[in-house]
This record gives sequence, C-alpha cells and structure tokens, in this order.
Amino acid sequence: MQDRPLLIRDILAHGRHVYGASTVATWEGEKARTATFAEVAARTDRLAAALTRLGVGIGDRVGTFSWNTQEHLEAYLGVPAMGAVLHTLNIRLFPEQLVYVVNHAADKVVIVDDTLVPLLARVIDELETIEHIVVVGMGDASALGREVHRYEDLLAAEEPGFDYPDLDERSAAAMCYTSGTTGNPKGVAYSHRSTYLHALAETSGAVMSLREADKVLPIVPMFHAMAWGIPYAAWIVGADFIMPGRFLQAEPLAKLIDAEKPTMSGAVPTIWNDLLNFGEDHELDLSSLETVVVGGSAVPRSLIEAYKDRYGVTITQAWGMTETSPLGAIAIPPSDTDPAEELDWRTRTGRVVMGVEMRVVADDGSELPRDGEAVGEIEVRGPWVTASYFGDPDPEKFHDGWLRTGDVGWVDARGFFQITDRAKDVIKSGGEWISSVELENTIMGHPDVVEAAVVGIPDDKWQERPLACVVRREGAHLEVEALRDFLESRVAKWWIPDSWAFIDAVPRTSVGKFDKKVLRAQHAAGELDVE
Ligand code: ADP
Repeated sequence: MQDRPLLIRDILAHGRHVYGASTVATWEGEKARTATFAEVAARTDRLAAALTRLGVGIGDRVGTFSWNTQEHLEAYLGVPAMGAVLHTLNIRLFPEQLVYVVNHAADKVVIVDDTLVPLLARVIDELETIEHIVVVGMGDASALGREVHRYEDLLAAEEPGFDYPDLDERSAAAMCYTSGTTGNPKGVAYSHRSTYLHALAETSGAVMSLREADKVLPIVPMFHAMAWGIPYAAWIVGADFIMPGRFLQAEPLAKLIDAEKPTMSGAVPTIWNDLLNFGEDHELDLSSLETVVVGGSAVPRSLIEAYKDRYGVTITQAWGMTETSPLGAIAIPPSDTDPAEELDWRTRTGRVVMGVEMRVVADDGSELPRDGEAVGEIEVRGPWVTASYFGDPDPEKFHDGWLRTGDVGWVDARGFFQITDRAKDVIKSGGEWISSVELENTIMGHPDVVEAAVVGIPDDKWQERPLACVVRREGAHLEVEALRDFLESRVAKWWIPDSWAFIDAVPRTSVGKFDKKVLRAQHAAGELDVE
C-alpha cells in the first residue's frame, strides 16, 4: 500500500473539494452569518499565508482565544495544515493559569476575538513569548496596549492559495491543556495522525454517525478538548456547521436552535440541564435534534429521561478526556436491547470505540475481569491517547504504556463500562466506597431538585461521609427529610448523607463541570449552611 501520511492538510482538502457547497454559519444573536466550505477553505489558505508572513514556521505555536466561530474553524484547519501547532486557550482559566499555559507552550501568535480582548488584556504584560496579536472583528483593542493585526486585513493582504508542506504525520498539530483541577494545567499535544484517525472514528455509524445531511451545533467550546473532535469530523463528511459564538446561555441557545434547526449537538450535562430548566416556563422547540452527545461528566438518568419524555430527544452519553483526543467511549445500546432496558444502557458511561483499548486494574496494577462488577482504575491506550504530557513527563499518570485515567469503575464483556467516580472524588466511608456520582445523579432524579453535587467531608468515626449540596427548584418546599425518604428506596442505607446544604447553584469549572473542590473548600471554611 502507499505510505501516505495522515495530515490535516488532507482533511482541509477533502472538505474543500468534495463538500465545497456545505456551509458554516456563525450565530450573532439574532441571525447567523454564513460561508461555504469553499469560502472557508480559501480563507484558510490566506490565514496560512498571513501567519507565514508574520514569521510562523513549522512547529511554532499559535494560540486561539476564541468562541466557536467560523474564524476559529479556519485556525483549526489552517494552523496545523501549514505545520504550526494550534493551541486552543481556555478563555475561562484563572489569569495565572492562562499566563502559565501560554508561556509554557511558548505561543508565538495569539488570535483573539474582539469581545475577549478585555480578558486577554488582563494578562498580556505577563505573556513572554507572544510576538503578534491578531484580533478577529473590528471591536476596540486598545486595552491590549499594543499594536495588533486585524484578522480580515491580514487575509485581504494575501494572494489566493497556499502550498501546504509535507509533514511527518507524527508531528504536533494541536495542543490543549487540561483545566488543571489540581496544580498547574498539563499540556496534551495531538499529532496529525491522531487527529485524522480520531476524526474518522467519530464519523462512523458505531460512534456519531455523522453525514452530509447533518447540521452540527458544537456547543462544547473549541478550547475544551478540541470541541470533542466535532470540527474535523463534521468537516470531512460535509455536515453544515452552526457555530454558537458567545451565545451559550439557555435563552439564546433556545433561540438559535429554533432558528437554525441543528440535527446534532454536543455539550456537557450542565448546559443541557440549564436548557431543560429554561424549557420549564418557556417555549422550547428541539424537534430538529436527532443526535445529542453529552459527556465530560456523568449524565444523570433523569436528564436523559426528561429529554426523551418532553422533547422526544435521545441523549447519547460519551466519555473522554483531554488526554484521549477526547473520544474513548459512547453509550449506544447494543442491538439486542429490550426497549424496557434502553435507558439502563444509555445511563452507562459508554462502550469503548474502535481505536481505544480499555481495562480496569486493581490497586496492585493487575488487570481485573471484564465482568461488569470488579471495580478499579480505568486505563486506556490507543493511537489517539497521549503518551506523555507536553514538557512534563509525569510518569505516575502512565502504567506499562497505558494512560491511568483517574476514573474508577467497571467494564463488562461487551466493552461497556461504568465510571462510578473520579478517584479523587470517591467517598471512603468506614472502609467502603460511596459513589458520589451515583448519589448525586439519584438526588437529581427528585422532581424538585435542579442540581446536586456530593462531596466527601472528614468524619471522626467513618473517615469520610457524604455531604449533599442541593439546588432546589424555585418555589419548591423541599426539606432534608423528603430527600432522605426519596433516597431510602434507591440507595444503600449507609450511603444516605447525614449532611445536607441547600445552595443557589453548584459552582462550575472552566469547562462547565461541577467544581467539587470549591464545595470542599467552602465547607472547610464553614461557608456552607449545613443541616
Ligand atoms: P478536566 O479533568 O478538567 O475535567 P477533561 O475534560 O479532560 O478535563 O476531563 C476528563 C474527565 O471527565 C474524565 O477523566 C472523567 O472523569 C470525566 N468524564 C468525561 N466523560 C464522562 C462521562 N460520560 N461520565 C463520567 N465522567 C466523565
């Protein structure tokens, strides 16, 4: 066979030549602006030429500080295709973390949306390696206190076309830092090869079944684990894009969905929960949605049920990590599923996808049986699983060539697995483990609960006991007693929390997950009103 390298250059070329008439729409609040794939590809060429003119060469890092937009997609395609490395910066990082990742990756250029200029301006003086700032949009950029380039001016100054180089498929194409729940964020570098294979896998019928007829709405930010690979996967099948820009709250999202009629979307559970709550007292038309992929944290059964019952929308849970590109598993029920059990399958974390191997290991490192019972740490390996962190070997995260996920759970004989907890969130009560995930998902099944997060708190007798932090539905008269009764028939008696706190909202991480370390700190500081 011919030994052709797997390159993002060829991802770009395929969308351009085969699906030139497909479209990329970027939502602007009331309506969308739209370009065809052919136009996006032509602009991508000009971006590559412009970055070259600015001195960006093979291997140089180009940061993006952007919402999900057409221009961000142009950077996704053009920066790697020209041989540079796309570094997606999380706009919600704390300033000191942002400074750390830009300096650690040694970004040479940063492309920033004009609406995000104030956020970047807070740290700009501490960024040591940035030589050029490219602003998308014509908004005021004076806060940066530097000369900037305007994206459109740069593109307009170039000739059409770009001669993309031959590259080693193993060279870095893109990088993303984990959101760093402890210590500094860690960088993961994706190669051309890993990105190409991941994109192919994602489109397959066994995974997301993406096709030209789809209209794809990636709500998951393009700075969170490469927007789960959706940009490349949708581009290679010629699906239309609907980019939400900065309109990520439930109300504008509802409007966008109604106007643009996406068939496929992906986002973390908190987004879907917010939208569901919005739908309680607003008109919400979700009838266009055929595939809704939800992952990043465990998807509560009650959420899947509510979408099916109220809107006829099927939620498909997926599992992944920044370290795994990110797709590792997807919970599509097996073909012989009894309809009465469909929800059970969908509530599982996922079924491992071709290209990723998964195993469960005991504390001593030995592999546990795939029997759907034995619980241990999940380990994965495969061509789109990272082999190390960028400039930070961290050997403890690896074991015999496998990545230690830090997730605890079981796997069954058909490759379905269930995460019962993150190792750092597991509650150890009297020598036994309580799954914080199962507990909070059960509590969220109560009709008067909007959100709930469970953390372990120190206990003299049991070592740790669960503290349930609950957000009540507005106007509901829900008391601890009723919640305890609700749990009585649903979980083991010793799992039922002794401590409860009613809170206004569960704090969220920079990628929209429940931020349990904030809750633990609030409890330790005596800031929670515990009953
Ligand atoms: P962060 O570590 O900052 O949350 P990632 O997005 O890379 O950044 O998080 C990966 C982790 O998210 C996984 O290790 C796992 O704990 C969690 N996760 C992802 N998908 C699921 C899922 N479907 N169910 C439970 N946990 C999930």
